[in-house]
Amino acid sequence: MEPKEEKTIVLIKPDGVKRGLVGEIVSRIEKRGLKIIALEMVWATKEQVDGHYPKDVKWIKRVGEKTMATYDKYGFDPVEELGTDDAEEIGKKVRGWLIDYLTSGPVVKMVIKGIHAIDMVRKLVGNTVPALAEMGTIRGDFSVDSPIAANKGKRGIHNIIHASENFDEAEHELNFWFSPEEIHDYDRAEDDIMF
Ligand code: GDP
Ligand code: MG
Repeated sequence: MEPKEEKTIVLIKPDGVKRGLVGEIVSRIEKRGLKIIALEMVWATKEQVDGHYPKDVKWIKRVGEKTMATYDKYGFDPVEELGTDDAEEIGKKVRGWLIDYLTSGPVVKMVIKGIHAIDMVRKLVGNTVPALAEMGTIRGDFSVDSPIAANKGKRGIHNIIHASENFDEAEHELNFWFSPEEIHDYDRAEDDIMF
C-alpha cells in the first residue's frame, strides 16, 4: 500500500437504498477517483449492527452530548423528552434507535481504498446533521431529517449513509463487515495519471 493509502467503510443505510440512491452514491465515490474494493447488499441483524457501532462509554457519551446540545440549541428539555439529562443514558437510547434504523431494510456495505480515504469519504458524505451538511455532499444534497424530529420519533437521524470517522473505526468496521477473501484490490485505469 502507498504510505498514506487507507481503507474505509461505507454503509448506504436503508433510507438511501429505499430511495434508489445506491447508484448515485457509488458514482460519486468512483468519480472522485476512490477505489471500491468490496461491495455487497445485506439485511443486517440487530446483533450485527450492535457489533458495528462502538460500545465504549466515550462514544456513547459523545452521542448523548451531541443529542443534548441539539435539545439545548432548540430549547427542548432532555428530561421532558427522554426522562433523563445523563449523557450516557441518552447515548444508550440513541444507540438503540440506530440499531432499529439500520435493520429497517437492506444496507449496501463497501470498502473504499485510497490516499486519505477516511477523510475523503467523510468529506463526500458531509455533516451528520442534514441542515449542517454542505451542498454538494451526499447528506447535503439528499437528506432533510433533523435531530429534533428524529429524537421526537425515537429514531436515528435519517441521513442516508455511514462512513468510518477515523482509523480505529475503519479498522474495526473492516474486520467486522468483511472477510479478507471478499476484498478485491485492482488497478484503476487512472492510477498512472492521478498519481
Ligand atoms: P456520523 O458518524 O456522522 O454518522 O455520526 P455519529 O457517529 O455521531 O452518529 C451515528 C448516527 O447516529 C448518525 O449518522 C445519525 O443517524 C444518528 N444520530 C447522531 N446524532 C443523533 C442525534 O442527536 N439524535 C438522533 N436521533 N440520532 C442521531
Ligand atoms: Mg460516526
